[in-house]
Amino acid sequence: MGELLADHTTLRLGGPASEYRRVTDTDELVAAVAEADAGRTPLLLLGGGSNLVVSDEGFPGLVLDIATTGVEVEADACGGAMVTVAAGEVWDDLVVRGVTEGWVGIEALSGIPGSVGATPIQNVGAYGQEVADTIASVRCWDRKLRGQRTFFAADCSFGYRTSRFKQDPGRHVVLDVTFQLRLGDRSAPVRYAELARTIGVEVGERAPAADVRAAVLALRRGKGMVLDDTDPDTWSAGSFFTNPLLDAEQSAALPADAPRWSQPDGTVKTSAAWLIEHAGFTKGYGNDRVSLSTKHTLALTNRGHASTADLLALAAEVRGGVEHRFGLTLANEPVLVGCELPVPA
Ligand SMILES: Cc1cc2nc3c(=O)[nH]c(=O)nc-3n(C[C@H](O)[C@H](O)[C@H](O)COP(=O)(O)OP(=O)(O)OC[C@H]3O[C@@H](n4cnc5c(N)ncnc54)[C@H](O)[C@@H]3O)c2cc1C
Repeated sequence: MGELLADHTTLRLGGPASEYRRVTDTDELVAAVAEADAGRTPLLLLGGGSNLVVSDEGFPGLVLDIATTGVEVEADACGGAMVTVAAGEVWDDLVVRGVTEGWVGIEALSGIPGSVGATPIQNVGAYGQEVADTIASVRCWDRKLRGQRTFFAADCSFGYRTSRFKQDPGRHVVLDVTFQLRLGDRSAPVRYAELARTIGVEVGERAPAADVRAAVLALRRGKGMVLDDTDPDTWSAGSFFTNPLLDAEQSAALPADAPRWSQPDGTVKTSAAWLIEHAGFTKGYGNDRVSLSTKHTLALTNRGHASTADLLALAAEVRGGVEHRFGLTLANEPVLVGCELPVPA
């Protein structure tokens, strides 16, 4: 049997890959992608597997585990630090280095699992920061044009949990990402009220970057959002559903006490967690195979013996319940590979 993808995903789910290869060098990565494409071999790019739901049947093609390394830094007092990071580097290692070396702007993204190369895909974000705030450019291999392309941030179509890379799935292999980070030991202005309260500053104030990291990690641990081998509440893909963006009519139709955050484009964001809870699914809802995390409504977790089919059935039940109660269809955040959410009977 091929390499089991359950061993490579944070949900601990997924059947075997027909072929599995770990690449540690960028030229090797490009050559492997080009060869697979020339032979029309289906290809799955794998980072840390923390945003992937892979079917129980596995993947009928080549899984490329991207483990490329390298960080190049150019720092000066005017431009700040321009930090170019290979796709396979671990995201949280970069955050630690930033806090240690005084690179400002990614400290609130502490504790997010996965690789640097995956961060532009869904414009990773948490606690008031997102990578779009600090990404200067993304260097890719374009599988359609069969050549390298560098996208400056303005050309990445970054939005809430989306980008041009997510909208055109599989086309761009991220080779490295360049971040432009201000120099200093104080954080970027803290934008998230819960985080500001925890640190003891006002929203919009700065704080020591190390304090921001410590506070974010503590908040995340309390919600089961930092990976922990001993805690099944963290055996997830993070938030399973994105917060819906509503037009004026949809927003008006929600109950008065539903959260509403106005967005710059005129839409209104509401809370997927609130919708799920008010549709009757509380923390821990599920069974001894799969359940909502007991610490966070939005995380669907493997309790240890689940199959992908179990997880998808729970996701479909939750999505169906919200649809029935509020007329809104939740969108899944993780990438589904070889599977989809079933329509509940
Ligand atoms: C406990 C937990 C907490 C989380 N918290 C957050 C959070 O706060 N905010 C947030 O935004 N996300 C969060 N996530 C989701 C996830 O960690 C991020 O989306 C992360 O960036 C995924 O990285 P990865 O390397 O694991 O990607 P993978 O899961 O391996 O891949 C995700 C997608 O990106 C593609 N991909 C991976 N690498 C490349 C590459 N080099 N080039 C092109 N495509 C690539 C894959 O093919 C796939 O489509 C959380 C997940 C978990 C398990």
